[in-house]
Amino acid sequence: MELRNCPVCGKLFVYTVRNMCPNCAKKDEENFEKVRQYLYDVPNATLDEITEKTGVPAKNVLEYLKEGRLMLKKTNTNILSCERCGAPILTGKYCDKCADEMKKQLERLKNRAFGINEDMKGSLHLSKLQRREK
Ligand SMILES: [Zn+2]
Ligand SMILES: [Zn+2]
Repeated sequence: MELRNCPVCGKLFVYTVRNMCPNCAKKDEENFEKVRQYLYDVPNATLDEITEKTGVPAKNVLEYLKEGRLMLKKTNTNILSCERCGAPILTGKYCDKCADEMKKQLERLKNRAFGINEDMKGSLHLSKLQRREK
């Protein structure tokens, strides 16, 4: 059993899947549902409109979108933008183009790291050989 302090209200709670106490998790679910419903009714709502009409803080609304729990309608490009290039997006943190580029970059980094490991193995092998020669 792991006890944690709720990051929202500071109360101690038993950590399960969500890093939030049951009270705050329930409130968060309600907030999420309000935003989802509002966006369903008014697909082109701005962030200001959403926070005003639902009472849910803008920070939370953006979180739902960035976590991929909520997705905007294709026509609503005024709320979320790519954290890398600023292009309008509908859900998540990055546009498709940046997500793709970052994936490739990560692959390259992984390959490079793998290459370094191989080199190290090689020199290790070599030093063993040299030791044996002495
Ligand atoms: Zn809480
Ligand atoms: Zn981008």
